[in-house]
Amino acid sequence: PSEPIRLEDRIRDIQDFPQKGVLFKDITPLLQDAAAFRAAMDRMAAHYAGAGIEVVVGVESRGFIFGAPLAYLLNCGFVPVRKFGKLPSETVSVEYALEYGTNIVEVHKDAIKPGQRVLIVDDLLATGGTVSAAMELVEKLGGHIAGIAFLVELSFLKGREHLKGHDVFALIKY
Ligand code: 5GP
Repeated sequence: PSEPIRLEDRIRDIQDFPQKGVLFKDITPLLQDAAAFRAAMDRMAAHYAGAGIEVVVGVESRGFIFGAPLAYLLNCGFVPVRKFGKLPSETVSVEYALEYGTNIVEVHKDAIKPGQRVLIVDDLLATGGTVSAAMELVEKLGGHIAGIAFLVELSFLKGREHLKGHDVFALIKY
């Protein structure tokens, strides 16, 4: 029998991207490897089997890459959380702090119904700032955050501590 695919072997370290001093985890080698991408999505979906997820929320833009196939596999709808000014209909928005300056993310007002069980997905958890903003949007619309899923978690940045009380799952941890 063949060995199970080691997903971490398909993540590439890029030194000094996007700025000097940052070690960036590049997920594109995993995406371009058909078996690894499939294994990642199957494993993520397996974790949520029977969890009663009704909506998958993907965070722009790498959250879309994992969120959409996950929604497909879990047989539920997909909702994009987008950067300011991208969504065409009525939105709610949240502003959050970056290392330098702030960012605004938005979701359509009618995208989530009160009480719906929502799974939030992004490619990577670092400090937790991005996903916290997405959580705030879901909560503004009355959604219930049933889980938060990542391909990669940078555990040493302790982003998980900002997500206390929630079910946080990552396929790969550093
Ligand atoms: P946080 O808000 O948790 O500090 O940063 C996570 C967000 O920034 C995610 O949306 C993720 O896409 C992006 N990000 C930060 N660092 C990395 C990295 O090393 N690799 C990748 N792929 N994304 C990163």
